[in-house]
Amino acid sequence: MTVELRRTSGPDDTERIASALAMRVAPGTVITLEGDLGAGKTCFVRGLARGLGADPSTVSSPTFVIEHRHPCDVGTLVHIDAYRIRSADDLASIGWDELLAAGDAVVAVEWPSRIAPALPAVRIDVRIRHAGEDLREIEIEWVRPVDASQRCKGCGATIAAGAGAQFCSERCRMADLGRWFRGDYAIGRPIEEDDLHGDLRRAPGGDR
Ligand SMILES: [Zn+2]
Repeated sequence: MTVELRRTSGPDDTERIASALAMRVAPGTVITLEGDLGAGKTCFVRGLARGLGADPSTVSSPTFVIEHRHPCDVGTLVHIDAYRIRSADDLASIGWDELLAAGDAVVAVEWPSRIAPALPAVRIDVRIRHAGEDLREIEIEWVRPVDASQRCKGCGATIAAGAGAQFCSERCRMADLGRWFRGDYAIGRPIEEDDLHGDLRRAPGGDR
């Protein structure tokens, strides 16, 4: 597990760091983005777009459409806002599994905590924090399974080393996903306006 810490002095700087990251990732990479409102998540995706050879000016917050696709040099940059994904069906409707299986897109996910069990074990987690005025602290974590051999999160069976999978079978994966979206893991209260503006770590569904 590798964590890189960067400090940026403004949106241009944040974009530049994202561009540099984009040039180091292969198609099939999932990059999650966490940060308060105004932290610069969209700005970061714009930088990813630039680094991947997509048109950065087409990047905007996908809040009302769940996902945007941007053609780029490596295939596609897919920008997903997971906030409104409430069920395995919602996830299926954006072709999540196919997206990961195809491996021809770089996938940037805002509100990743909403789909935590569906995130691949190998991914890059980006956390952007306010550090006063225009200053931001950006943490880039290259996430990999801790052990070579893993246990299924559903039934505990051992999974083949290096697979990067979190479940032994489709059955276990779907069962876990169903439990997640039914709220077994989430805080049992409706989403409030404050959740949109508050600290992500306290967001519903963000605790596990
Ligand atoms: Zn299992």
